[in-house]
This record gives sequence, C-alpha cells and structure tokens, in this order.
Amino acid sequence: MKKRADLHTHTTASDGTCEPAENVRLAREQGLSAIAITDHDTVAGIPQALEAAAAQGVEVIPGVEVSSLARGQDIHVLGYFVPYADSSFQEKLAGLRETRHERNKLMIARLRELGIPITLESVYRRKQGTDKNIGRPHIAEELIELGVVSSVEEAFEKYLGKEGAAYVNPPRITPQEAITLIRQAGGVAVLAHPGLYNDDELVQQLIAFGLDGIEVYHPDNSEAQRLKYLQWAKEHGLVVTGGSDFHGWRGEEPFHAMLGSHLALEDTVEKLRAIAERRRAQG
Ligand code: AMP
Ligand code: ZN
Ligand code: FE
Ligand code: FE
Repeated sequence: MKKRADLHTHTTASDGTCEPAENVRLAREQGLSAIAITDHDTVAGIPQALEAAAAQGVEVIPGVEVSSLARGQDIHVLGYFVPYADSSFQEKLAGLRETRHERNKLMIARLRELGIPITLESVYRRKQGTDKNIGRPHIAEELIELGVVSSVEEAFEKYLGKEGAAYVNPPRITPQEAITLIRQAGGVAVLAHPGLYNDDELVQQLIAFGLDGIEVYHPDNSEAQRLKYLQWAKEHGLVVTGGSDFHGWRGEEPFHAMLGSHLALEDTVEKLRAIAERRRAQG
C-alpha cells in the first residue's frame, strides 16, 4: 500500500501546542496514512495518539526525539517503534528530562542575570504533567509575554539559540549514547534535521557509529542538503526519513511547518518496521 507519512511531529507532551489526538486528526485531514509522534525526551503523548489512531484510520508510529550534546550544540536523534510502555525505557527518558530541567534552570538564571524578570515558576506553569516536559519554546513564550521580545524567532536569535546570550549547554548524553539507548530498546535510530548542525564531520561519525537512518525531508534541510544526505544514505544503506516537525500553532502560524508538509518516501514506514522487528526478534 502506498503510504503518505509524516514522521516528525510534536504535541503538548513536549513543546507542541496540539494534543496528540489533534495531530492524528490533522493527519487524517491531510490524507496521510501514518504519522509518528516524536516528542522531545518523552513518550507521554503516545497512548492518546494510538487511541485516536484507531478511530481515525491513521497509523501512529510510537517515536521520540532524544536531545543530546556534541561539540557544543544540541543534536537530536529520532527513535521509531520505541517500546513506549516499557518501564525501563521510560525511566531512561525520565533521566533525560531531569538533565533538560537542569538546563532550563541554568538558562532562566542566565536570563535573570541579564536583567530579565523571568522566573522558573512563570515558565513551568506551562508544564502539562510529570512525564511531560518544558523546553526553550516555553521560555520563548514567557519572554514574549514579558514583552522582552515579540516573536519566538527573536527569542531564539537574541537569547535561546546557539548564538544567543542565554544559551547554555551543560553535560548531556552524546548522540552516540542516544543512538545506543534507542537501538538497545529495540527502536530505530535516525539523525534528525542534519542540515541544522553545520557539522558534516559529526554526521559522518554518527553514520559510522550505527545510525539506522537520516532525516532527509525536513523544513530545515535545504534542497542541496537533501540531495547530499540522500546520496550519503544510499552509500551507507541508511533509511531515508522525512517529516514536518509540526509543533502546532503559535499565533496564526504553524510553529515550524504544517503537519503533512514534509513526508517520508512511500516505503519508509515498512523499512523502519522491518528493522525494529528484526531487532526485537534478536532481542
Ligand atoms: P530544547 O528542547 O529546549 O532544546 O528546545 C528545542 C526546540 O526549540 C526545537 O525543537 C524547536 O522547537 C525550537 N527551536 C530551536 N531552535 C529554534 C529557532 N532558531 N527558532 C525557533 N525555534 C527553535
Ligand atoms: Zn521542539
Ligand atoms: Fe529537533
Ligand atoms: Fe522536532
């Protein structure tokens, strides 16, 4: 069967603004046959999405987007067909959220040093539950509410992005550890938006280390980058994936890109499933 699949979407379990069931409904509306839910360091949105999936006739692929740190910047590793109900996997993600929390605290402290009257409490009132999390877009939202900046983009440019005045990146797991975490859990490890990192040496190292796939179709990869990574995928036998990185809406505009605007190739879901099944059979 021909599949139209958006393999990168966020929900209110992390920094998206739509409930998981809403992503699934939008997927059906866009005529997709499958979507992955890939929240940052949490699988808390997946049960609701799976429930909606049955009703909407859309396949939901349980996923996660693990945050790691390499050479001074955030590197995101997507995991597909992860064991979202497994308690030991969930505990590992809880550990990652703890690190994320420490980082949020440092960034907020840095903003306060810069004279901005932001507090931990004012940001964390956005948190939707213990197994859900807070990230920089929530801090950006608070900066807008305080009138410090007028858009999320401005917040990242001035304060929160990798060149920003309040950017900090304390020790975190490496992308290699993220790949291992996902693979050992029986999931499929894919490097998210490689075009964002400006570090192809690292991309090559991660391919050699054991990535299963690479995200080629993503709003932040330029056309030239897509062609390059498509070629690399072919050379190294990697699965080519794609997705919108939909984060819901902030104001009138979809945050990042609209769900369904960037898709994987037709056979990608089956390729990912086959890897996960093989990995679990070898268990
Ligand atoms: P965090 O998980 O706290 O590191 O925040 C990462 C998230 O911030 C990404 O998934 C995006 O949603 C958002 N983000 C990162 N860079 C930017 C940027 N330059 N402009 C707007 N949003 C961004
Ligand atoms: Zn995000
Ligand atoms: Fe990402
Ligand atoms: Fe993402």
